[in-house]
Amino acid sequence: MTRVMFRNAMIWDGTGADAFPADLLVENGRIVTIARTPGQLSGDGATTVECRGMTLMPGLVEGHAHISFGGAIKDSDLGLIPPEEHLLLTMRNAKTLLDHGFTSAYSAATSKLRLDIVIRNEINAGRLPGPRMRAGSPEITVTGGLGDERQQHMYHESFGMIADGVEEITKAVRLCCREGADNIKINISGDDLSPAAHGGLTVMSEAEVMTAVSVARDFGKKINCHARAAGSVKRAVKCGVDVIYHCESADEEALDALESAKDRIFVGPAIGIIYGTLYEGEPFGFTHEMAVKFGMQRILDDSRKVYTELRKRGVRALIGGDYGFAQTPQGTNARDLKHFVDLLGYSPSEALQCGTRLGGQVMGLGDELGMVKEGFIADLLLVNGDPLKDLDMMVHEKNLVVIMKDGELYKDQSASLAAQRQAA
Ligand SMILES: [Zn+2]
Repeated sequence: MTRVMFRNAMIWDGTGADAFPADLLVENGRIVTIARTPGQLSGDGATTVECRGMTLMPGLVEGHAHISFGGAIKDSDLGLIPPEEHLLLTMRNAKTLLDHGFTSAYSAATSKLRLDIVIRNEINAGRLPGPRMRAGSPEITVTGGLGDERQQHMYHESFGMIADGVEEITKAVRLCCREGADNIKINISGDDLSPAAHGGLTVMSEAEVMTAVSVARDFGKKINCHARAAGSVKRAVKCGVDVIYHCESADEEALDALESAKDRIFVGPAIGIIYGTLYEGEPFGFTHEMAVKFGMQRILDDSRKVYTELRKRGVRALIGGDYGFAQTPQGTNARDLKHFVDLLGYSPSEALQCGTRLGGQVMGLGDELGMVKEGFIADLLLVNGDPLKDLDMMVHEKNLVVIMKDGELYKDQSASLAAQRQAA
């Protein structure tokens, strides 16, 4: 039996309540006891982590993971990576996410069909370090949609899986289910950086979306979509999509639709890539002027309005900003927390709940993941400082003193930190 005792922690439990001092005992992967009077709990036979008042909180959940994306400037760059290198890249990214405190990842899409799936299987078998994962399908897209980079005279691979009409969509979704995807992804709207279909267009028909949802349901899978245009958001809600990404062009009717489905759906602004392209894209060829021309400032402004409204209406939003592009490197995913505060108007506590408690819910484990609660899965971070006072600290590995996944100490620097303090 693996027992780990966290002594003298300040627990931020993910409910939104203030942090409180406590001791906490983990046994066999679960949080078994939280003792609010420190010093009362017996840690016999347990490995003890002296927390010295540091913050103990739930592990982060990446709500828009693309663990097979790495350093792409153009979408089509992902298609150029040979499968062998791509698998290794995906494996490294999985470790990078866990190293940065992401103990779970809800995939928004993979860039080749089996990449997420095989890495998830290896992680589950204990052979590779990485977050617990819901593996994504590739982005199922229609001819001319986001992820179709082909030209009439020349084939170009990208990250999309192209399918048109009810029959092809049915077959594509079934194929992804057969191979083991947990989440199916469909691109209902275009995208501002997409060659043929811009973000204001709704290019996947209602019949196609309805089919994708119904086939995903037949196999017991979740379904995500890319939806920038208001019409795409409405179509997603109407057809029963579970996780609706972007949504920044939602009009009043779309906002009402999202609100009406708030107990069932999640939204995700994927704001990191917008910020990264606007302000940090220069080394990769995106001058600020170009980014504005491609609509990034408008998306940022619209996102602020729409997510302020969605927050007030109680629609659950997930962190995850399309990390894995050149301007949004893997490992910086926790920047979304501060982006939620600075760019979208969330409070620090609300932003952290989006990255923990709501993350547990979208993983399909809302009653056992994403909070520090007795009986819950012991995915925990010990953070050297108070994240609510400075969310930026969550981005830096050195501040994550302990990373525990499934009750196992993946990283524990509590003793060496104490020794350093002693020496100082
Ligand atoms: Zn994405």
